[in-house]
Amino acid sequence: MTDLPDRINRITELAHDLWWSWTPSGRDVFRRLDYPLWRLTWHNPVRMLNTVAPDVIARAIATPAWLDSYDHVLTQLDEAHAARDTWYSGACGTSSGTPIAYFSAEFALHQSLPIYAGGLGVLAGDHCKEASDLGVPLVGIGFMYPQGYFRQSMSPDGWQEETYERLHWSDTPIEPALLPDGQRCVVSVPLDGRALLAAVWRVRVGRVSLYLLDTSLEDNAPMDRGLSARLYGGNREMRLQQEIVLGIGGVRALRALGIQPGVYHLNEGHAAFAVFQRVQDLSEAGASFDAALDEVRRTTVFTTHTPVAAGHDAFPFELVDTHFGSAWAGLGDHREQFFELAHHDSGGGPMFNMTALAMRTAGAINGVSQLHGDVTRQMWRSIWPDTPADQLPVSSITNGVHVPTWMSSELAALLERHLGADWLDHHDDPAFCDRILTIPDEELWAVRQNLRGYLFTFIRERARHQWTTQGIAAARIVAAGTMLDRHTLTIGFARRFTSYKRPELIFSDPDRLAAILNTPGRPVQLLFAGKAHPADEAGKQHMQAIYRRALDPKFGGRIAFVEDYDLHIAHFLVQGCDVWMNTPRKPLEASGTSGMKAAINGTPHLSIGDGWWAEGYTGDNGWLVEGQTQDSDPKAQDWADAQSLYAVIEQQLVPTFLDRDAQGVPHRWLQVAKQSIRTILPRFSARRMVKEYARTMYMPALTQRVDQ
Ligand SMILES: *Cc1c(COP(=O)(O)O)cnc(C)c1O
Repeated sequence: MTDLPDRINRITELAHDLWWSWTPSGRDVFRRLDYPLWRLTWHNPVRMLNTVAPDVIARAIATPAWLDSYDHVLTQLDEAHAARDTWYSGACGTSSGTPIAYFSAEFALHQSLPIYAGGLGVLAGDHCKEASDLGVPLVGIGFMYPQGYFRQSMSPDGWQEETYERLHWSDTPIEPALLPDGQRCVVSVPLDGRALLAAVWRVRVGRVSLYLLDTSLEDNAPMDRGLSARLYGGNREMRLQQEIVLGIGGVRALRALGIQPGVYHLNEGHAAFAVFQRVQDLSEAGASFDAALDEVRRTTVFTTHTPVAAGHDAFPFELVDTHFGSAWAGLGDHREQFFELAHHDSGGGPMFNMTALAMRTAGAINGVSQLHGDVTRQMWRSIWPDTPADQLPVSSITNGVHVPTWMSSELAALLERHLGADWLDHHDDPAFCDRILTIPDEELWAVRQNLRGYLFTFIRERARHQWTTQGIAAARIVAAGTMLDRHTLTIGFARRFTSYKRPELIFSDPDRLAAILNTPGRPVQLLFAGKAHPADEAGKQHMQAIYRRALDPKFGGRIAFVEDYDLHIAHFLVQGCDVWMNTPRKPLEASGTSGMKAAINGTPHLSIGDGWWAEGYTGDNGWLVEGQTQDSDPKAQDWADAQSLYAVIEQQLVPTFLDRDAQGVPHRWLQVAKQSIRTILPRFSARRMVKEYARTMYMPALTQRVDQ
């Protein structure tokens, strides 16, 4: 590591607080320190500071403008941490200092911390960042997976290849979590009759701290060391063990750190064992089982994320007994009661179901879009046999995205020019956002052109890198996107590859698609990206089918697959494509968030009316795909949806995009783009979402607690 001069001795602190990543001046300080290194490290300042050359540092501190920006950003950082009058302190009053514990198996905060797989993690990461902005005293609990999630590459034939890389701790924005006495925080978790140890790491996310459990300790048996190695990497048994560590170890870590949450938010059922540890703690303090459970229920909130049955973890009771048996001891004869709380039969016989456990032990439950709330109430109706259908304790809080993270800085600068320097403070106010319609088309178009340019430069540079370093066949360089044209209407599709998301829907009629893509003078191009879960064979087959299309000359080199989708690539794609496509089988997409990220950047959404789009589409802020058929056969539905998709592309997208004035500006298109930003920015931002969680889930739990 380079020795840093005293004049900039707080730069390491800045690099270790992910607050920099959503603060324009924070990004700027590192970008301007060493631009080539900034790009080479994929915007990882911790790694940059480990490798930056001493003369680069010397040059920076001899540059007054750079030093000014360094001083300025540290002042901002201190202000952000010190602010007392936050939205939350005003809204919540006397309980506003009580921590909210937020449990999640994944958090997507930055590409330098690869402890996420996809949408669930992005939601958790955006929730933390927004909580910091709003002053919600959130504390995250998750895993520090030493190997993270896999890196994806494609075989010559388009089969997904997965590699796991061991993270370099020192290049990662984490630090050991310390106990009040300064010792390293390590907690023990009962597993299989032995005590497993988990070390705790801390990540700074502005005012929010995230604590991550890591079992790769010398003192653990080799098998236990590997337990937290990978996200979603093992078999069912390992998954159960991980979930025991997350729930039990998470509550114990909070206790060791001296944090006393007033609310426990379980993001998905993975952490539901937390409930068990809390009941046990309260019992030990003298409460009866029922009183302990009541208290836990009052202070637990649960968010469920999927209507797909296989997405809900369920384990055989024997397996739970095997791994958890020793923990029951502390609960006397209440093992049966716990089994009942988790009991659910979703078709394959009764199982220990993590979602059922969370539903029966949480006082407030929500789905992640209005439609998903309805579906969840139907799907889990049997949990509350005596409750009338209109009184089930399941509400909806539609997902949102963290605007400073996902909006391109150029578009943010444009909004600042036209809406005022404090636009971000008002971005969840729909009336305020009406002013977006006053932005001149020419200026928005200039920004959109730049964003498209960055995307194609990025794709081309990656292809060049593969061509030069991996010697792969020319056809695969075409599939990587080298023949894409930066002025052609570009439709993006990037998400986890899995059957219900129907990635191949647009290929239902290959000849019609080829005609659309290759129409002389008015071509269209398609960009795909996404990983398949390592165990999802069907997902990998869809991916392979698409990769083969990208190799097929019939489509004219106008289809590309961008490998190794992650947060970094997601930024380029959602900002640089012209349209964002989503074609799930309704109603299986609980919400979806990539379409929101695109829409707030002026990349309108083209989607089935599922998930968030069922409530987001207004008629003029994007396009709705809706196949008309009475036939309930899924194949017939697919075909009908595909016909609708083609018709929208042919009759609406292409003519609107190509309708230009003398300067080449597509006014009708930009009208859709502006309506997209105007309507989606306020309603689908993480700001609206976190405020809703705070008002409807956190504050009621806190006040009940105070009134007790
Ligand atoms: C936003 C995002 C997702 C989730 O996209 P969906 O549209 O909700 O499926 C997945 N992966 C990455 C890297 C993302 O940024």
